[in-house]
Amino acid sequence: MRIETFTTGLFKTNAYVVGPEPGQDVLVIDPGWRTRELLAYIRDNGLNVVAIVNTHGHADHTCGNKAVKDATGAPICIHEAEAKRLSRFAVGALLTRGRAHWSPPADRLLKDGDTILVGADSFEVIHTPGHTPGGICLKHKKRLFTGDTLMAGTIGRSDGKGGSWDALSASIMDRLFVLSDDIQVYPGHGPRTTIQRERRSNIFVRHSPEQIEDMLLSAHERRMRYEDEKRRQEKEKAKAAKAADNAPAPPQS
Ligand SMILES: [Zn+2]
Repeated sequence: MRIETFTTGLFKTNAYVVGPEPGQDVLVIDPGWRTRELLAYIRDNGLNVVAIVNTHGHADHTCGNKAVKDATGAPICIHEAEAKRLSRFAVGALLTRGRAHWSPPADRLLKDGDTILVGADSFEVIHTPGHTPGGICLKHKKRLFTGDTLMAGTIGRSDGKGGSWDALSASIMDRLFVLSDDIQVYPGHGPRTTIQRERRSNIFVRHSPEQIEDMLLSAHERRMRYEDEKRRQEKEKAKAAKAADNAPAPPQS
């Protein structure tokens, strides 16, 4: 399996070029703001892009669709509940510094359980709504591409348009955390992780937003107390040093 990561743009979005076999067929997942290096890699290695897959429709994951499609002719695939986002302009224009990077419309609408064939291998579509209604993860053997659903130590926001905390945590708990421990997670932002690591340590999944707020508040309080204590000790030390300076000099003999 070859997986090449290209991280670009304001939000450091990860685009992946994935080839399950040493052959020439690859998938491009979430092409973002800069596609020059990604396209050079595809060209230099003589790769055949069989599909461009968007884990969801946010512009930082889709604004490279046009460039990759123009260069390769590959079809754009996105969940059916997300396809309308491809033509949304506002955020895309903002992210691309005023230059419109419209994505061409979807060529294939995906739904849960669909497979995307890459050579003799298939990638399974897992519908994971919550960050957006049509968010998906893509699974191939021990690899899982999670977009903004699950990331190392965190999860995607659910307060955007169409987002839902309950849907997001259900997606993660019921669809992703039931997968085996040794699955490697390739998120839409940030470093790689595993299902095991996230199941054990990702506090955002185990707790409600209220609990997380409490935890963050008490961490903040602990930090403030710690800093107060440090300041107090420094003051004492300074006072002691000053007292030592002012102490009468020992008798000279
Ligand atoms: Zn997103």
